[in-house]
Amino acid sequence: MAKGFTLEINPFCYLAQYQDNNSWSEKLIEKPHLSKEEEDKLSDEERRVYMLKRNSFEELPIVNYTTQYGMGCFEGLKAFPQKDGSLKLFRPDENAKRMATSMSGLMMPAFPPELFVNAVKGLICANQKAGFTPKYDSDWEKDDFLLGHSVYVRPFSYSEPGIGINLSYKPWVVIVSTNVGTYFMPGNTKALTTPMVRAFPGGTGWIKCSANYVISTLAKKRAIAQGYMEAIFLDAKEQKYFEEGSSCNLFFLLKNDTLVTPALRDTVLPGITRKSIMSLAQQKGIKTEERQISVDEVFAEAKEVFVSGTASGVFYIESITHNGKTAEFNNGKMGEVTHYFLKTLKGIQYGAIEDSFGWMVECKQ
Ligand SMILES: *Cc1c(COP(=O)(O)O)cnc(C)c1O
Repeated sequence: MAKGFTLEINPFCYLAQYQDNNSWSEKLIEKPHLSKEEEDKLSDEERRVYMLKRNSFEELPIVNYTTQYGMGCFEGLKAFPQKDGSLKLFRPDENAKRMATSMSGLMMPAFPPELFVNAVKGLICANQKAGFTPKYDSDWEKDDFLLGHSVYVRPFSYSEPGIGINLSYKPWVVIVSTNVGTYFMPGNTKALTTPMVRAFPGGTGWIKCSANYVISTLAKKRAIAQGYMEAIFLDAKEQKYFEEGSSCNLFFLLKNDTLVTPALRDTVLPGITRKSIMSLAQQKGIKTEERQISVDEVFAEAKEVFVSGTASGVFYIESITHNGKTAEFNNGKMGEVTHYFLKTLKGIQYGAIEDSFGWMVECKQ
């Protein structure tokens, strides 16, 4: 049973390394495993040993610029089980492009997008053939796929060995996958603004890099300790405008039915779910705006608020607390428009709704 976000790495992993002649060496690695059925019967301790083997790569050095100085970036994308038994990836080309942008942003050689997409497809296929990927279950259709499973794919860069502060000139790209269920469960969906700063002008907020997650994780843990589900970041300079959740983008539906999301700039991560929601909104004839949006405006004018990301999907925010004041949206329940995006996006991903944008990519080899 796939739990929220537990780490049970599927046996087939991918490894590439930048070569001096401007190319990449590539290999698919089969890590130690039994059959899925046999593994499901292992005791916790036996499972721990297997999972540790799957999470260890002897060719990767432990002391390097990634582990010591955070010089690394990553991606997160999902493959969804379909009724016909296949698995389809959601917009892998977009993740491939963003990974290349992130690597260039960290001044390392960029992993070519075609290699990325083929590597992810190959990895999914290999794990599917070995019986490790989830199968479509029509029960999921009930609650808009709330309980649906998928394969979460995690590509990341990893530097060559080194201890003096440096850039990575000869990075590896590692791709692993793990089966996942729901990330946020309905219940408490309250958010709290944080005085912490995730990203500042001139920084790395636009890059999907590990370093950005230090502040987000601290802020999120503090928010949780105070009884909230999520921390929300405001702009670094004035602490007045919304930027992002801890690892997801923000959307506000105003009383005049305009859907607003903070404009992309170097402090906002260009989410692929964000971009897809904007397309769905435009298709549905909802007016959209990408601009600065202040706390004051949201407190006065927003009727629905939600966050978006690969891990969270579309997830509503029942209230936002800022400086001791709380604004509740849609009486604390998921709004109609938020529900529309959630259901449409999941529907397209699990093949229940026609993919008119051509977003889904089959994992054929
Ligand atoms: C990954 C990420 C998102 C969401 O991007 P998706 O492509 O939709 O998954 C949003 N904000 C931050 C900071 C992220 O790292």
